[in-house]
Amino acid sequence: MDSLTHETEIKIFKYLLEIGCCINCCLRLVSVHNPEYYENPIEASKKLKYVEESYKISEESPCIACLGILQETGKHQVLEEITRVILLEGNDSPTFTCALSVPMSLTLREKFLDISIRENLDLPPNDLEHLFLRIESIKDVWKIQMLPRIEAKISKTSITGNSPSPFLIDISLIHDCDESDYDYLLKKCDPNYHERRNRNIKYSRNNIKKVLSTIDKNKFAEFFAIPPAKPTRPIQLEKISCSHAGVFIGGRYNKLSRELSQTPWFINGEKKMESSVQDLLCGPLIEATRADSLKFLSSGREDVDVRTINSGRPFAVELINPRRTTIPEDEMKMISEKINSSTELVQITSNLKFLDAEHLKTLKDGENKKSKFYRALCVVNNKSKIEALNLEKLAEMRHVKIIQKTPVRVLHRRPLAARVRMLYRMRGRRLTNKEAEELKKNTPDILLDNLFILDFKTQAGTYVKEFVHGDFGRTKPSLGDLLGVDVDIAALDVTGINLHWP
Ligand SMILES: [Zn+2]
Repeated sequence: MDSLTHETEIKIFKYLLEIGCCINCCLRLVSVHNPEYYENPIEASKKLKYVEESYKISEESPCIACLGILQETGKHQVLEEITRVILLEGNDSPTFTCALSVPMSLTLREKFLDISIRENLDLPPNDLEHLFLRIESIKDVWKIQMLPRIEAKISKTSITGNSPSPFLIDISLIHDCDESDYDYLLKKCDPNYHERRNRNIKYSRNNIKKVLSTIDKNKFAEFFAIPPAKPTRPIQLEKISCSHAGVFIGGRYNKLSRELSQTPWFINGEKKMESSVQDLLCGPLIEATRADSLKFLSSGREDVDVRTINSGRPFAVELINPRRTTIPEDEMKMISEKINSSTELVQITSNLKFLDAEHLKTLKDGENKKSKFYRALCVVNNKSKIEALNLEKLAEMRHVKIIQKTPVRVLHRRPLAARVRMLYRMRGRRLTNKEAEELKKNTPDILLDNLFILDFKTQAGTYVKEFVHGDFGRTKPSLGDLLGVDVDIAALDVTGINLHWP
């Protein structure tokens, strides 16, 4: 026989009920597992002949086994609080997963009950072997009884098992005498107690279980009330916290300013620039999703003085703990418009949309693998060479391999190394009249004769400015090497990032 006899079950059940266990604990401690029985524990106890037909629950004092977790008052309190918190937070998730944390001393109380039964009931040796071996856990019974009630209250579907809902409701229950209960036990029974205390090492649930398994019942009886004393106060609800896994929204942006950093720029905790691409793009997204915070991700980044134009740079924003996780398309459009009308420095150039893991992989891979297009305004320093400048020959050069030592400007944060990058295509030309006029308008002193424009396509990760000006000979060959003149860079635009996005 691998379980208790029915006669023994009845005996234990009646004893537990008598010493102050609630009806749910009586059922779970005689190893009743059928979830249906927990839907109506009184009827089940009658059906299983554990109690008389006339049995009624009297005035409840806190159960000595679960401290009230499985009793109506405790469950009702949790239910009310969950409803209040969910209403307040307004999470839109259609599903939820519940996590329940309970006081550590419950394990201790079960141990005491085990000893009490062995001491006080004259059970056959065969039954003693199976005693408390397969009891149902408090958490499992709680879930059987509570999840349908929570579902009905908050109109969301509960998800259990290995693939939890992204929306987590965390319930933490505590009890006044929890710490004193097990601390006393550990002090008396764990030889390592003082050493742990001195080194400030906290006990985990497993540590406590381990200590319990080493103690013989006489020692328990020496120090503790067997059966466990009736608690004077029931379990308390410490807190209920809700959190939703981050969601990602992505799109493309243009950066139209040469005085704007991509992310907020702090030096010694002080914000160095008034705003950033991240600040300008993300405010309305945080507002719309009611997230706690965000993480900004993009396919590469531009320097403060570099613009991104045309189709724009792919980006994604992770919204941490959002309350709203779906936004209809027309509202998404309105968010885009709101961002674009709030600033002239940054503009969204694509539809904003929610992203999945596959999208994020594309973004990450694209950072290193995809080709990029640039337009550089270049300056020839040596006047006498301007006439001889042969820009046409650049178009004939394809797949030019360049070797770049770590640029001087980033040496303080990157190790010195040399890397090979590919210039796929180039096209040099003089400024159009329109471009010349624009430049004259913005910078009246500029010498237009010294300028030319280079459009080029490079491999991701090329130090583009260094390719143009040569970085004191650290990039070989540079544009200057290819043209046979000294060239410097006056302005740079990112004109295209070759990524299927979003
Ligand atoms: Zn109980």
